[in-house]
Amino acid sequence: MSDELQVSALNSSQPANQEESNFNLKPPYQTPKGVHDILPADHEYYTFIKKVVRHRMRQAGFKRIATPIFEYTDVFVRSIGDATDIVDKEMYTFLDKKGRSLTLKPEGTAGVVRSFIQNGMNQLPQPVELYYIEPHFRYDRPQKGRYRQFWQYGFEIIGELDPALDAQAIFLANKINEDLGIDKLFKIQLNTIGSLEDRKKYTQALRDYYYGKERNLCEHCRDRLTKNPLRLLDCKNEDCMILAQLAPKMNDYLSPESKEYYNDVKEYLAELDIDFVENPTLVRGLDYYTNTVFEFWDAHDGAQNAIGGGGRYDGLIEIMGGQPTPAVGFAAGIERIIANMKREKIRVPSKDDVHVFVAQLGKEAKKKCLKLIYEMRESGIKTIGALGMGSIKQQLKLADKFNAPYTLIMGITEVREGTIIIRNMTKGSQEIVKFDNAIEEVIKKIGEKNLDKYSPGEVMY
Ligand code: AMP
Repeated sequence: MSDELQVSALNSSQPANQEESNFNLKPPYQTPKGVHDILPADHEYYTFIKKVVRHRMRQAGFKRIATPIFEYTDVFVRSIGDATDIVDKEMYTFLDKKGRSLTLKPEGTAGVVRSFIQNGMNQLPQPVELYYIEPHFRYDRPQKGRYRQFWQYGFEIIGELDPALDAQAIFLANKINEDLGIDKLFKIQLNTIGSLEDRKKYTQALRDYYYGKERNLCEHCRDRLTKNPLRLLDCKNEDCMILAQLAPKMNDYLSPESKEYYNDVKEYLAELDIDFVENPTLVRGLDYYTNTVFEFWDAHDGAQNAIGGGGRYDGLIEIMGGQPTPAVGFAAGIERIIANMKREKIRVPSKDDVHVFVAQLGKEAKKKCLKLIYEMRESGIKTIGALGMGSIKQQLKLADKFNAPYTLIMGITEVREGTIIIRNMTKGSQEIVKFDNAIEEVIKKIGEKNLDKYSPGEVMY
């Protein structure tokens, strides 16, 4: 995505002479493999998505949390499980100067759970509902939709066990997709992997089934068989897939309570008009899930381009040293959301467009314009000014390049007469107004509702 942007930015500058063409040679410093700059055009998507997420989360009573970019490595090893791809091969782990092992966060839940326990959030009214919008890091093989730094938004509902909460989590994730115009592109895959007890019995059944068949498994699955047999079910190797089809089914190992729980989730989803597909092989990559698991799969490419997933993780908080506390959560990848929005030609409002360009000539005009620029910005008019030495003609050219719909022009005559010129850049027409009325006149033209007023809310003492 950002690659495309960078390439097109380079392509648009045709070298006019040798000096410029040297500039176009590959610069000596590049981003590390698998990571990208977020250039301004893409930032508009990030900003819009964050706004949608914040809005939906606030509406549902969630509070935002930001955990550190790095944690002690054990936080991830303990929570995600050491038989997962993430912990096995994808973590950015390093030693600090005192030899402590730290890891850049590869996903959001582990940090949130660590924070929940560390900050005694079990004392708060339950459930505790938290959301985050953060960068994450995985040493993945870079390819389309798979980067080494990527953004996720995610949320967690901690402290209550109820199938209605699972349904609500799926509903909320789907609502955000609707707001972004991409809900129809994804099919919700749903499964249950039972309680921790059910899983124990089922994983034993899997081990028994695969006993003696190890030779037919891929190298990874042979390893997974001892560490995390559930993962054998979603291996993409052809031989492993054939064996997985004949393997014991989770459904036969579910306790009556787990079955009832799953049926309730489905009932609530139907009540909320959420379409889903039951997928008995969906297990999710992480160790900590229990009961409900779900993913948003690309309607055409399936799991390959999943946009997000989540599930219930009732055992995790205890594993991490807290009181036993049930929880359910979800996370989605923002780069993949943007790629889908772009593919669908969905555009987002551009807040970066300027309203006015200010051009001036002569020291007196510059002095007046310096103050005017500041006052216009205070009034919510997005203003840039050429405060360099160029001629009016050069400055107007620049105004065109910035796509400013209006240019204010002030030269020696205007200073003397106390006026300023407002030029409509699309029509090429211009009018002279009193300098003191300039702001009022510009607001009339761009419209009160389009002003960009700075209003963070007032501080309180
Ligand atoms: P996971 O926690 O692995 O289920 O990831 C949740 C979502 O994050 C995925 O569905 C993707 O949208 C996104 N995601 C995960 N890994 C990456 C990656 N390496 N690059 C970009 N997006 C990712």
